[in-house]
Amino acid sequence: MNTLTILGLETSCDETAAAVVRGYPPGPGEILSNVVFSQTEAHAPYGGVVPEIASRAHLEILDGLIEKALGDAGIFWNEIDAIAATAGPGLIGGVMVGLTTAKALALASGKPLVAVNHLAGHALTARLTDGVDFPFLLLLVSGGHCQLLAAADVGKYRLYGTTMDDAVGEAFDKTAKILGLPYPGGPNVESHAARGNPRAYPLPRPLLGRAGTDFSFSGLKTAVRQLVTQNQVNIEDACASFQAAAIDILRDRTAHALTRFREEFAHAARPTLVVAGGVAANAAIGSALAKLADQHGFEIRVPPPRYCTDNAAMIAWAGLERFALGERDPLDFSPKARWPLDASGDNRHSGERQQGA
Ligand code: AMP
Ligand code: MG
Repeated sequence: MNTLTILGLETSCDETAAAVVRGYPPGPGEILSNVVFSQTEAHAPYGGVVPEIASRAHLEILDGLIEKALGDAGIFWNEIDAIAATAGPGLIGGVMVGLTTAKALALASGKPLVAVNHLAGHALTARLTDGVDFPFLLLLVSGGHCQLLAAADVGKYRLYGTTMDDAVGEAFDKTAKILGLPYPGGPNVESHAARGNPRAYPLPRPLLGRAGTDFSFSGLKTAVRQLVTQNQVNIEDACASFQAAAIDILRDRTAHALTRFREEFAHAARPTLVVAGGVAANAAIGSALAKLADQHGFEIRVPPPRYCTDNAAMIAWAGLERFALGERDPLDFSPKARWPLDASGDNRHSGERQQGA
């Protein structure tokens, strides 16, 4: 078995990223370089990602990031086996910048192109970092997505549940905005919550105790807004109360998914719950889910935060997994704003980047 070396590009939201990854399925792989430029500052004045600003910023810096990724990896072009780029889902202008750059590089170098689903990147990160075996249950919690998926194999995903309205990261960001905390809200809400009383304000937990594995967060966000307009609130207590509600929702829905996974993949002795996406960086959420996984006889894997938030190493790895199976894509592959991982499933918000503002 020969290891493969893949250049990956990521431009689907507000991170411009390039990385070189080496390895072979099932992983773990070697991350030779991982360059990420976050546009957070450019979007901060607007309280969310502005698509037009994002695509211009990707265009300005992507070339330089690719050079840096190759330089950091200490390799020459001839050592690259294929070029992988996010082809969706995401903000279409940004996706076009990354995918078109990858096509140009593929054309000029004669190397194959692999068009990667950004969500597959998140899904397969735990194989890159930990070599997690299929099948596993994925909880993807980010600024644009909130989904539970069974990953049976490369390209074989079953969507268990998704959000009916906001993604959980979006709920963190909007709560932060309502409370006057800076963007991106998640880390700020978490640090304030650590000093607050989670029982100070009673907030709703939409869908809690109901059957199924879908999520809903907009009622919670609205309740925070009402709380703030009607009362003089303590910010730390409000953050703690919000985060406790978000954790209860995630725990309840994930518990149902763990039970369903057990029924559908009865042969997996001690399967893994993988938590990915930017919100996986939240330590309180992580420890609640670790306890839950243990109660259900699951291992838990939470890739390090730099591989949980948007990055190109995960895109390179997802490309590597497909390339290893002999898959590659034509140079006229179309970028997709929407691209659910489970084409048969309900794709409400499952393949769509929301504008954070
Ligand atoms: P991503 O969409 O994967 O790039 O992740 C970004 C999202 O993760 C944003 O909505 C952040 O607010 C959220 N996030 C990052 N860190 C944390 C945290 N510690 N707690 C909650 N949310 C977080
Ligand atoms: Mg993402």
